Amino acid sequence: MSVFFVGAGPGDPELITLKGKRLLEEADIIIYAGSLVNPKVLGFAKSSAEIFDSASMNLEEIISVIEKAAAQAKKVVRLHTGDPGIYGAIQEQINLLEQKKIPYEVIPGVSSMSAAAAALKREFTQPGITQSVIVTRIEGRTPVPSKEDLSLLAKHRGSMCIFLSVQKMEDVVSRLLEGYTPETPVAVVYKASWPQEKIILGNLSNITQKVKEEGIEKTAMILVGDFISGGGEPSKLYDSGFTHGYREAKS
Ligand code: SAH
Repeated sequence: MSVFFVGAGPGDPELITLKGKRLLEEADIIIYAGSLVNPKVLGFAKSSAEIFDSASMNLEEIISVIEKAAAQAKKVVRLHTGDPGIYGAIQEQINLLEQKKIPYEVIPGVSSMSAAAAALKREFTQPGITQSVIVTRIEGRTPVPSKEDLSLLAKHRGSMCIFLSVQKMEDVVSRLLEGYTPETPVAVVYKASWPQEKIILGNLSNITQKVKEEGIEKTAMILVGDFISGGGEPSKLYDSGFTHGYREAKS
């Protein structure tokens, strides 16, 4: 096996997996998503590694680099931001590799949605508040199926992670208001886990203005829901009256 799709994590180079780091250290060729991956993560590469920024490459060019390298049994890391399985655009690459019968593996990463919750020091799934997380975006050049429009998803009023959408804050908020109340907390986390990280807290009535004032237009996660205020019920897991596989209840 010589081709690996690797999740680089959200920014902080220490948030890559041990496996991802090892593969970067061993890679002869690294193709990374220059617009989002922290260049510091490339510090794990050996000095002889050949490094390509995919920002200036099209799909065919990327696949041709991978194909040539694989034919010479060179180790290739295709480095994606966060977790490759979420808005990673890996499927189109995978499909071509499968057509060409080039074997590959996918190494997961820490998504920016997890880094954003960690920055807030909040749990998405607090008992008594919600037990569901919706991961979505507003349409951009990539369309979103109409059955998944934000205004419909908002009706669940669970926790929401909205990727790729901060540049359309006004539109996002007006659709969310079709389900959530105007007081619903919202956090916009800019560059979670980077030194430039910023957290903007507000609610659906004032977040658009706050985001505008901060001038945030990209690389930000919009989190929505009552989980942001904390204060759910304690979970049953650590409840002394609750027995589970590893602990007997105290009576
Ligand atoms: N695969 C990535 C997402 C890529 S799509 C992941 O799992 O995180 C790019 C979008 O991810 C950005 O528009 C932004 O919404 C979000 N994003 C990526 N890195 C981020 C970070 N460090 N902080 C906040 N949002 C981030």
